[in-house]
Amino acid sequence: MNLDDVLAIDQAHAWHPYTSTLDRDPVYPVRSARGCRIELMDGRTLIDGMASWWCAIHGYNHPVLNQAARDQLDRMAHVMFGGLTHEPAMRLVRSLVELTPEPLQHVFLCDSGSVAVEVAIKMALQFWISAGRPERHRLLTIRSGYHGDTFNAMSVCDPVTGMHHLFNRVLPEQIFAPAPSCRFGEPCTDADIAPFAELIERHRHELAAVILEPIVQGAGGMRFYSAEYLRQVRELCDRFDVLLIADEIATGFGRTGRLFACEHAGIAPDILTLGKALTGGYLTLAATLASRRVADGISSGEPGVFMHGPTFMGNPLACAIANTSIALLLSQDWAANILRLERGLTDGLAPCRGRSGVAEVRVLGGIGVVEMERPVPMREIQRRLVEAGVWVRPFGRLVYLMPPYVISDAELAQLCAAVAEVVSERSGF
Ligand SMILES: *Cc1c(COP(=O)(O)O)cnc(C)c1O
Repeated sequence: MNLDDVLAIDQAHAWHPYTSTLDRDPVYPVRSARGCRIELMDGRTLIDGMASWWCAIHGYNHPVLNQAARDQLDRMAHVMFGGLTHEPAMRLVRSLVELTPEPLQHVFLCDSGSVAVEVAIKMALQFWISAGRPERHRLLTIRSGYHGDTFNAMSVCDPVTGMHHLFNRVLPEQIFAPAPSCRFGEPCTDADIAPFAELIERHRHELAAVILEPIVQGAGGMRFYSAEYLRQVRELCDRFDVLLIADEIATGFGRTGRLFACEHAGIAPDILTLGKALTGGYLTLAATLASRRVADGISSGEPGVFMHGPTFMGNPLACAIANTSIALLLSQDWAANILRLERGLTDGLAPCRGRSGVAEVRVLGGIGVVEMERPVPMREIQRRLVEAGVWVRPFGRLVYLMPPYVISDAELAQLCAAVAEVVSERSGF
């Protein structure tokens, strides 16, 4: 197919994320991608600043991941997980249990991040049903969160950016504490935790769980908050016997400088969701891990089984690639590499600080954020970034970077320079 055919079909029939079929956003046809570079069908090459929404940590077209996919294809692409089991999934289950905090002992494999969140919520609800406490069915979360686009996941997304008003007839009504005011690296005062503490105490008799993204709130605002806040949330959950669900779909596998963001606070959740970088960005796969208490609680009540089972659960191809991606990550000094990204992003984005129109520049691990004072005109800024040779997809007031871990120092400098240049062109926005 040539470039025009792709664009014509796209224009006529394809629906892209968060887009209108009438007022269409421009799209850029891709021919291939390798390492940290995306090659467009028109011949241009872009340095990737997005890792395809946190996923492609090893870059694209990685020879080791490609080989893992081929090897598994020659055995089997898929078999059902009901009543059958296999080595690729068992290797993955074992390493997820080994890599995550000790209480998490049971792994439920899912097909996407949103499904992993649905499963986590269902586990929390079923746990209390089994315990004879069905009135404990609500969730407490913090504003500015993002947990996915399915209905229960949506119900705990930020109520303003998450479009709650559109679906308020069908969304379960959850409880929202303010987003943490204490920043990463700073202490958490009594005043910082007070609104959360007050809500968990007031609603303790109807709460099934607290759900939040540990340390980094991603798509809901790219905010980095205090590890002490997270530690206090864990303590409050213990005090009022409320389960804690940590959604590490974006933060898992090193992005924040720790393998999992909960490690910044030294806490273990009762339920943990993983996704995105799990397969190094090759295939959709996610996992929900539960503590023995949660799993045994669900299994010992009525109906005695956990009521979930996706068709593509434990997909062998995805599991084999996930195993290889995790091995590849752990075979390197990945923590030093994330520090390298942190330094590169800090230096590279420094020129944005203090520019007019820029509210704040912040960096944590492999995440760099330029927060503007006003929403950026997406199409316009997207076009300018592509012209500058980089792939970055801003949203709202945020121009942010989370490049593949394999990005070179020179590519990272070029990526940041392009962002700094486009952000400081004041005309147009
Ligand atoms: C992306 C994301 C999800 C949803 O994952 P999908 O695979 O897009 O369904 C859930 N939680 C967090 C924190 C995410 O970043």
